[in-house]
Amino acid sequence: MLGVDIGTTSTKTVVFTLEGRVVAQHAVEYPLLCSTPGMAEQDPQQIYQAVLTSIAEAVKAARAAQTGNHRIALVSFSAAMHSVIALDSDNRFLTNSITWADNRASEWSKRIRDEFDGIQIYRRTGTPIHPMSPLCKLMWLRHDQPEVFARAARFVGVKEYVFFRLFGKWLVDHSIASATGLFNLQELNWDKDALALLGIRAAQLSEPVPTTHHVHGLDVTLAAQLGLPADTPFVIGANDGVLSNLGVNAIHPGQVAVTIGTSGAMRTVIDKPLTDPSGRTFCYALTERHWVVGGPVNNGGNIFRWVRDELATAEASAARSAEVDPYDALTRIAELVPPGAAGLLFHPFMAGERAPLWNADLRGSFFGLALHHGKQHMIRAALEGVIFNLYSILPALEDLIGPTKRMMATGGFARSALWRQMMADIFNREVVVPESVESSCLGAAVLGLYALGMAPSLDVIADMVGSTNRHVPVPANVAVYDRLRPIFMSIPGKLQQEYLALSEFQRQCTEVQTS
Ligand code: ADP
Repeated sequence: MLGVDIGTTSTKTVVFTLEGRVVAQHAVEYPLLCSTPGMAEQDPQQIYQAVLTSIAEAVKAARAAQTGNHRIALVSFSAAMHSVIALDSDNRFLTNSITWADNRASEWSKRIRDEFDGIQIYRRTGTPIHPMSPLCKLMWLRHDQPEVFARAARFVGVKEYVFFRLFGKWLVDHSIASATGLFNLQELNWDKDALALLGIRAAQLSEPVPTTHHVHGLDVTLAAQLGLPADTPFVIGANDGVLSNLGVNAIHPGQVAVTIGTSGAMRTVIDKPLTDPSGRTFCYALTERHWVVGGPVNNGGNIFRWVRDELATAEASAARSAEVDPYDALTRIAELVPPGAAGLLFHPFMAGERAPLWNADLRGSFFGLALHHGKQHMIRAALEGVIFNLYSILPALEDLIGPTKRMMATGGFARSALWRQMMADIFNREVVVPESVESSCLGAAVLGLYALGMAPSLDVIADMVGSTNRHVPVPANVAVYDRLRPIFMSIPGKLQQEYLALSEFQRQCTEVQTS
């Protein structure tokens, strides 16, 4: 089975056996186009070509790796959420793919929240009102590029475009649709009021279908190019976030998937759509009976990268000279001080923040610096701050779904034993690191098995995911973090005016520098 993940930096195809063992994989990268401030676009044609190449190369590698005549049972898709492409009535591009990372809709996001009762739209659609969401992007496009908006016959996401090129139909799975801010989670259809706010018609959007929807009948030339039989079933699949939960086997009550890569996220699965009265969490579809609620954070591994590149430059370069991974060297320095960094706290809001505060004007700070603190405390406080910040999503999540128990942790941070143990101690929960390499690709493949009736339920994932590391909370450390956590969490709420004033000041400084 082939799991294809159309991500922001690359498209990856992984070939699995029906038991979930990796046979071969291939990734094709593409650039993010950021020529003006706030812009983060991609070329949809380049992505389509990357999908074709990654499938063809992975299939070729799988055939080379296996003896005997193996058959590809299915191809199933994962994709990044929130992208928007405008097309004219001849399906010609009016825009590139505007990705989740594009910030140009931030003014409109604020206005939708304040002037158009955005919280009600969120409650029906499950997507927080934020510049990442297609709702805000389309509002921005309508006002900022009215001629493009007026000419647009259709607005689609990148996976819809790929499916259209493969099968000639404009389809969107419920999962990608549920992350547009335009999809009514109860009705499983486009939300009339959200569409009215934008002045668009449902006919300008793709037809929503369940994530298990599958099609076959590839064009024979295309099939030959991919190295697949033309009748191979293609399952439309879901978005990368919900499939990552499936791919790490966190699909039952009380299980939480936590990722810290460059950014971070916390997600859990429930059996019906649910939104937060104050708009702190998202709710995206996995299947009609599996819904993923959670929150994304902007500040994860990027904070440790900043520590490496700006704060501990000398230590990092000494590590490089000694051929040691700088992250490992800095982790060892942080280990020199005990949990709690002798009372130094770090708020990691260096990139503003999404969940749970959804405020782009937040800024980072060390809090509690005293003369006895050194760089080792600052490094440790930064790592702890990232985990405290992720922890602050948990109350919102538990208000919605009740208590959580076990955590499955993934992403670059999991390479550090210290950081993993911090997570167990700060959350006071067992932390397990799954073995799976590409969790969204495995999730897509397993959803594909279920979609085609080749697995009775999604639970087959349990036998496919092993674990590499397991951490249990250390009571003495938990006691320290229990004292510091409330201090950490109470500060941001008290400084809203100051964050705003300072971020405005910073914007003006940047404008002066660039003019
Ligand atoms: P992405 O989100 O771009 O896929 P990754 O999941 O690879 O990225 O995570 C990258 C982050 O992982 C880095 O920014 C860094 O903070 C963290 N990281 C990488 N290696 C280590 C390590 N050895 N120890 C601790 N953290 C690490």
